[in-house]
Amino acid sequence: MQTVFKEKTYKNFINNEWVEASSQERIPSINPANKEEIVGYVQSSTKEDLDKAVKAADEAKKAWRKLGQAARGQLLFKAANILEENLDDIAETMTREMGKTLPEAKGETARGVAILRYYASEGMRKEGDVIPSSDKDALMFTKRTPLGVVGVITPWNFPVAIPIWKMAPALVYGNTIVLKPATEGAVTAAKVVECFAKAGLPEGVLNFVTGSGSVIGQALIDHPLLNAITFTGSEQVGKNVAKAATERGIKFQMEMGGKNPVIVAKDANLDLAVEAVISGGFRSSGQKCTASSRVIVEEAVYEEFKEKLVQETKKITVGNGLQDGIWMGPCASESQFNTVKKYIEKGKEEGASLLFGGQELKGEELDNGFYISPAVFDEVTPDMAIAQEEIFGPVIALIKAADFEEAITVANNTKYGLSASIFTTNINNLLEFIDDIEAGLVRINAESAGVELQAPFGGMKSSSTGAREQGEAAKEFFTAIKTVFIKGS
Ligand code: NAP
Ligand code: MG
Repeated sequence: MQTVFKEKTYKNFINNEWVEASSQERIPSINPANKEEIVGYVQSSTKEDLDKAVKAADEAKKAWRKLGQAARGQLLFKAANILEENLDDIAETMTREMGKTLPEAKGETARGVAILRYYASEGMRKEGDVIPSSDKDALMFTKRTPLGVVGVITPWNFPVAIPIWKMAPALVYGNTIVLKPATEGAVTAAKVVECFAKAGLPEGVLNFVTGSGSVIGQALIDHPLLNAITFTGSEQVGKNVAKAATERGIKFQMEMGGKNPVIVAKDANLDLAVEAVISGGFRSSGQKCTASSRVIVEEAVYEEFKEKLVQETKKITVGNGLQDGIWMGPCASESQFNTVKKYIEKGKEEGASLLFGGQELKGEELDNGFYISPAVFDEVTPDMAIAQEEIFGPVIALIKAADFEEAITVANNTKYGLSASIFTTNINNLLEFIDDIEAGLVRINAESAGVELQAPFGGMKSSSTGAREQGEAAKEFFTAIKTVFIKGS
């Protein structure tokens, strides 16, 4: 007997058709605010399904390239308009699927629209440069050309923005795509793909296959017809993806974890710093790759900063992100919830003192969700696990530094280097910070989390490898350069 699924099952999208996977298995998407609610199902696809998707993308790549950049841009403008029309529904789905509050989900979806328009406009921008040849009778120029079939593997924490900031440049520069979304954000991703589908992309240009990372993600990377892979997710998986891509000799781009520091110097505007740490540390329940997780405070202002921070943290309202007045939603899934709880215990065992929060929240509507109160740890030393490992939850580690020099040393004392922020009014400090900090995103008197779509995005050390994402930088990854030399005959 076949199982009947009450909620909708989102299918794969291959060759412009929504198709059943070759397996009957379905994966439920659970609402972390109420684990009894199933948001929808996605299919647990097989390697055969993935193979069809990559072949479709491969067959479509020549015609898509030949369509031209301007025409491709026009299709992205259409997709942007359709996404905008569906903004409320997609944002609500995101909140139900992974828990971030509705205003955050709406903001992210609106950003998706803006990213699409930015890259749609690339359709009308230059594809190369003219370079003087040493032969006066020759014309020499560069022409950007697409890579071919690009595999896109995305995480669940920005289920709209990240797939779009990879797919939009990939498409406008002429590549075809196979998207394997994070399973925890796959229903939201399916709704984004629906917008592209309605925009009328030619067959095979954008393909979407759901299923587990270890099966579908791995099969995508291993597929012989794949020409490049762009990945955002954990360091562990990312490094394996990079290794496989290196062995195959295909281009890769990896955006991975972070353990982002905020330095609060003794001359900082403390109220501003507190506000930024609260937002950077606890928005999206700390599940941003750029979230503030280590706050390194100069001794002279440590006590004052700490008191203000705890006072403000206590005001945070935690609950279902669909409700008005809720500032922070649940952890995105049971496994995130368990990871956060594990690190709270670990912090205590290592001798840090839990000043506030870190409690599982219970009672009435909270019982069925993965709720944890925002946590602030005091007396954290730089070598502790909570100061070294990415928690990806609402946990802030306060670290005391004797002076500014020590604060920089502590800030750099991690394998990650995504984002870093400083609060100071001292120009010498901030110039030194810009120079010495090991991070791809350097933020002065601003929270560590904050991304502008028109600027390059990425990190140093174990946070990123390959070309930067977003802004003009995306072109470096999604195209190859042909250097053309022409002479009359
Ligand atoms: P993840 O577990 O690494 O998953 C990321 C993606 O990889 C998912 O689509 C996942 O599929 C897939 N995957 C899992 N195992 C795979 C394998 N063996 N081969 C190929 N693909 C595989 O990360 P996550 O938990 O979704 O996301 C959180 C992480 O992302 C954090 O570390 C965070 O810092 C990072 N992140 C980084 C950035 C950045 O730009 N630097 C931005 C956002 C998030 P399944 O979902 O099916 O497992
Ligand atoms: Mg979920």
